[in-house]
Amino acid sequence: MTFKSLLASAGAVVLLAGGAYAEGKVGIAMPTKSSARWISDGNSMVEQFTAAGYETDLQYAEDDIPNQLAQIENMITKGVDVLVIAAIDGTTLSNALENAAALGIKVIAYDRLIRDSGNVDYYATFDNFKVGVLQATNLVNGLNERFGDQKPWNVELFGGSPDDNNAYFFYNGAMSVIQPLIDDGSINIASGQMGMDTVGTLRWDGSVAQARMDNLLSAHYTDQTVHGVLSPYDGLSIGILSSLKGVGYGSGDQPMPIVTGQDAEVPSVKSILAGEQYSTIFKDTRSLAGVTVGMADALLAGGEPEINDTSTYDNGVKVVPSYLLEPLPVTAANWEERLIDSGYYTMDQIQ
Ligand code: BGC
Repeated sequence: MTFKSLLASAGAVVLLAGGAYAEGKVGIAMPTKSSARWISDGNSMVEQFTAAGYETDLQYAEDDIPNQLAQIENMITKGVDVLVIAAIDGTTLSNALENAAALGIKVIAYDRLIRDSGNVDYYATFDNFKVGVLQATNLVNGLNERFGDQKPWNVELFGGSPDDNNAYFFYNGAMSVIQPLIDDGSINIASGQMGMDTVGTLRWDGSVAQARMDNLLSAHYTDQTVHGVLSPYDGLSIGILSSLKGVGYGSGDQPMPIVTGQDAEVPSVKSILAGEQYSTIFKDTRSLAGVTVGMADALLAGGEPEINDTSTYDNGVKVVPSYLLEPLPVTAANWEERLIDSGYYTMDQIQ
């Protein structure tokens, strides 16, 4: 009999359904504080888990893989009931999760899929393929608006971190919109650089993206204009925009290319209002936290969490049952409705 089942049979794990009181410890492992979205995710989870009666241990690993592993191992040693993990590298946690499973600890992959492990119970995320579709749709809308008469459009592609499963979903979703436009001659990738192997950005690092954009501009755009840049994350977009501004885009007779993003982070919302970044994607971290708390609740009560996808997220060992939330596109035309009216930000934070 495991420690966990002993506890359960002793009645120490209390049923939650119907507003009874909950008891349990949740370890929350987040990747980094360098991006505001993960801070919101962590805060929302602590708030909602606490309100549901749980104790929480929230840790950030500053994008350091051994550090995150040590934090998770420590949570396991301390005897959490559930682990909620947004992995830095989705492939490096298998041993730790085996130990967790042996102790009956439930594991929820948070936003990012944990790969190569059978010990991932559930996955709470957004529709990541759709994120990419929306990013590319924004890109094409922007290209039509700003450069409608200048086809073919010169576009460059950026991908997310190759150790993050989401990065492939974003890229593939975006390419489902962009590839047909390359094929019909509307879009030209002037550098020829395509595919996650080539355009990925390790650790989602904005300075890496900025350096790559600098190189693209000097190698391929001294005698032609870049019209659009597919960027999968606001932190990359800000770096890409600095690079573009550095060679004069966004001033004089050089209009700013259409640059996409993701996460609706404050600097990017401000950039959208200033007419620099064109778009971002809003993923309401409060809702993702809510789904995760609901999953943990159900698991600890011995029930079945609500899921809405049982086929998309194969982690190499199993298809992880998932709940996918809807991402929403944000531009200068709808930011207020999406981000202020929803209470995600106050006007003061943006202006
Ligand atoms: C998340 C994105 C985020 C990116 C960088 C991804 O796993 O889904 O929302 O932009 O990581 O932090």
